[in-house]
Amino acid sequence: MKNKKELRTWLNNFELDHPLVIAGPCSAETEKQVLEIAHQLKHTDATVLRAGIWKPRTRPGNFEGVGALGLKWLQKAKEETGMLITTEVANANHVDLALQHDVDILWIGARTTVSPFIVQEIAEALKGTDKPVLIKNPVNPDLSLWLGAVERFYTSGINNLGVIHRGFSAYEKTRYRNNPEWQLPIDLQNRFPDLPLILDPSHIAGRRDIIFDLCQTALDLNFDGLMVETHHDPDNAWSDAAQQITPSNLVTIMDDLKIRKETSAEADYKNKINTLRTQIDVIDHQLIEVLGKRMKVSEGIGELKKKNNVAVLQSKRWNEILGKMILEGEQHQLSEEFVLRMFKAIHQESINHQEKILKE
Ligand code: PEP
Ligand code: MN
Repeated sequence: MKNKKELRTWLNNFELDHPLVIAGPCSAETEKQVLEIAHQLKHTDATVLRAGIWKPRTRPGNFEGVGALGLKWLQKAKEETGMLITTEVANANHVDLALQHDVDILWIGARTTVSPFIVQEIAEALKGTDKPVLIKNPVNPDLSLWLGAVERFYTSGINNLGVIHRGFSAYEKTRYRNNPEWQLPIDLQNRFPDLPLILDPSHIAGRRDIIFDLCQTALDLNFDGLMVETHHDPDNAWSDAAQQITPSNLVTIMDDLKIRKETSAEADYKNKINTLRTQIDVIDHQLIEVLGKRMKVSEGIGELKKKNNVAVLQSKRWNEILGKMILEGEQHQLSEEFVLRMFKAIHQESINHQEKILKE
C-alpha cells in the first residue's frame, strides 16, 4: 500500500473545523439508553455515534452485547438526531447486518485485527461498498499486523480507511489499561501521513481521569480524531464502566483541548514543531523508564554481590560494556565522547544504587 491522499477523502468530506469526534457507549444496552445518549451527544462536537452491539470479551461471562437488535436502536438514533452511526463488526455476518441497517462507518476491533483470516473475510464481505472502515490496532504492539489489516481492506477496493489507536496490552500492570506505546502510531503516521489516525483514549486509560491528557497528546501528535466512550450514567454501564464519561464531560474536554489548525505559514511551522516536540517528549519518557528499569536490575546485582561478599566495582566487566556500547553507538551516529560520558553517568548511578544496598 502506498500513501495516497484519497485515503482521507471521506474525512475531508465532513469539512470539520475540529478533529472528528466519535462518541457513544461501550455497548448498546437498551433502546432507551442509546436514544438518551444520542440526544445528549447531538449538542456536542460529536459527528458519529458509536455503540458496540457484539462485544468481544477477553473472558467469557461478561456482557456480550445485545446483538442485531441493537442495530435498530442505532438506526432510530440516527433518524432522530441526524448523527452518523458506527459499530464494531467481527465477521461477514455482522457486516451484512450492519449494511442492512445503514450503519455509516464500521470499525474493526483489536481482537479481530490480530487475525488475518477474519480480516480477509470482513474485507471480502465489504467489497463494492464505500463505507469507511476504521481499523483498531491489534492487541499486541505489532505495526506490520496493523498495517497488514489496512492493506487487506485496501486491496479489496476499500479506499475509505482510517486507523484507531487504542493502546497495547502488556503483562505487567501499568497506570494504563492498554499501554499507549506512542512510537507505533508515530511510525505509522510517518509512513502513511494521509491515513486518518484516531485516538481511543478510553481503552488506553481504562479510567476517566487521564482521558483529557491522552487526547491532548494525540492532538499534539497531529491525530485526526477521537473516539471516546460516552454514557449518560457511566457508573452503571454494563461494560467498561470505569472509563466512560458523560456527554457533558465530553463537552468540557473538547473546550479545554488545544486544537491546532494549519492556516498560515507560521501556524504550519508551529504545528510541525509541536508534533516533533511531542515526539521528543515521548522518547524522553521512554529513556527515563528504561534507565529506571536498568537501575532495578542493577540493584538485583547489588543484592547478589552482598550475599556473596563481592566488591561493587568490577572494572573488567565495566570496560567490556563500554567497548561494546561505543561500537554500537557508532552504528547510530553517536560520538564516542558522548557514549563515554553517558555511560560513565549511568555507571556512577548504578554504583550508587548498589552501594546503598550493600550498606543496608
Ligand atoms: C470497544 O471499542 O468497545 C472495544 C471492544 O474496543 P477494543 O477492540 O479496542 O478492545
Ligand atoms: Mn469498551
